Amino acid sequence: MSKDANPFESLQEQIDDASAYVGIGDDVIERLKRPERVLETTLTVEMDNGGLETFQAFRAQFNGDRGPYKGGIRYHPGVNRDEVKALSGWMVYKCALVDVPFGGGKGGIEVDPAAHSASEMERLSRAFAAELRPIIGVDRDIPAPDVNTGQQEMNWIKDTYETLERTTEPGVITGKAPDSGGSEGRVRATGRSVMFSTREALNWLGRDLAGATVAVQGYGNAGSVAAQALDQEGATVVSVSDSSGAIYNPEGLDTFAAKHHKTETGSVQEFAGATEVISNEDLLTLDVDVLIPAALENAIDASLAADIRADMIVEAANGPLTPGADEVLTDEDVYVVPDILANAGGVTVSYFEWVQNRNRFYWPEERVNNELETVITDGFDDLVAAFDEQDLPNLRTAAYVVALRRVASAYAQSGNWPWVYSRETEPHRLRAVCVRVACGSVDRVTFPRD
Ligand code: NAD
Repeated sequence: MSKDANPFESLQEQIDDASAYVGIGDDVIERLKRPERVLETTLTVEMDNGGLETFQAFRAQFNGDRGPYKGGIRYHPGVNRDEVKALSGWMVYKCALVDVPFGGGKGGIEVDPAAHSASEMERLSRAFAAELRPIIGVDRDIPAPDVNTGQQEMNWIKDTYETLERTTEPGVITGKAPDSGGSEGRVRATGRSVMFSTREALNWLGRDLAGATVAVQGYGNAGSVAAQALDQEGATVVSVSDSSGAIYNPEGLDTFAAKHHKTETGSVQEFAGATEVISNEDLLTLDVDVLIPAALENAIDASLAADIRADMIVEAANGPLTPGADEVLTDEDVYVVPDILANAGGVTVSYFEWVQNRNRFYWPEERVNNELETVITDGFDDLVAAFDEQDLPNLRTAAYVVALRRVASAYAQSGNWPWVYSRETEPHRLRAVCVRVACGSVDRVTFPRD
């Protein structure tokens, strides 16, 4: 993986690239490039041997103009402030692109979960939940799972919040197990949106998903479900990988058996259905119709991009391409379906989960899947309409054009009341006031009409 791109700078560059086409004032664009606030905290947790260990943890609340901050919590040794800031910004534009009424946030703990017992991870999760408690809430900031977190961690965080608040408020967090207020279809939602976006993008180019060859980097939640969903729609998944390496079969891998093997053994290595073991880099440069990076940021930099032979890249991971890679791939006419559409299934079904929690009325999985398909295909249509109408350089720029306009419009419509200050005001409203005071007068902030 490339170490040279700072994901927060990548996000800012993506916004800059799109800003040339949206007609929004530079002062407002500047505001849309930075988080409103970042919580950084040190968590001290008792280990099983009675000793104490400290962990750095973060929560960035990037923008709340369109609704409560929304975004996952990641447990990984590489978590840092800039990564969390970038991930929270991508959430803002993801929610705006698929028109889910949330802003963006993201959190993480710098920890290797594999090095800790379940009870240590429970204490760590509860310690983080206690720190988050004053700034999260069903109408304020709603966390969810991300890398190395899932239903168990969400259930612990929900329980800690509800116990400290003396309430039952399952909508404070999404991605929970169904018996704890989770939604049917949530676990598979991200992978399904990768499949829907791939299908829509291929159809748009006059091609079929059935028979397309696919390689998937990263066989975790997003990657394995995407591979299985594509497989079920008739695509041939020829290669998959995880941090231990990649496996290959030109006739196609059994994606369900490969997942079972990974669950049983901890990796995709030695899967009987593979004919070859290849390196992670070999997977990224295979001659396939669709390449799906589904691991972490910066998987493909400019030099690797020059060797890409796939016709299309669909970003299941957040930020897997550096801005340099984007430039090379645009020049080479490789279509990149951006992360803020392709993996938006996770936040979309999180939104459905939040709606169900608030209504205390739960949907069958079929309804979840149907509504998800509509949201993702509508998002793709909006993106392509902008791409065609404005003759934009690539699909990522089109996605940001649509999303930036929606966020800026919500900000403009909120109006201006810098002379009012109340301690009772919601935190995200206070932020709006402070920002507008800093702007001086709303008259200096102009917005074009759509
Ligand atoms: P996960 O932990 O379940 O899976 C990550 C996988 O990537 C693992 O199999 C790991 O072994 C593999 N991996 C790590 N480094 C690798 C490398 N160098 N080469 C090949 N494989 C490597 O995480 P996830 O939830 O699937 O998330 C993956 C990506 O998708 C992240 O960028 C995340 O932000 C994004 N995403 C996830 C969701 C979700 O609902 N899970 C939603 C939106 C976006």
